[in-house]
Amino acid sequence: MSSTGSVKYRCKTSGKSVETSIQTDDATLIGMNRMMLSVWCPHCKDSHSIMASEAYVDQMRAWKAA
Ligand SMILES: [Zn+2]
Repeated sequence: MSSTGSVKYRCKTSGKSVETSIQTDDATLIGMNRMMLSVWCPHCKDSHSIMASEAYVDQMRAWKAA
């Protein structure tokens, strides 16, 4: 079983990593590979469209929260 975690991405504008409210696992994220996600960026105070392939699952954080 792959573990679920928060989807994160790196904002191209600020260069900072952003945690989204999306919870999924690696297999699901890989399956969404070509999907565009519209995600809010707290650094830019704006939303960004990113490819699912640009995002990653932060499993370490989910591990700690479990
Ligand atoms: Zn941003």
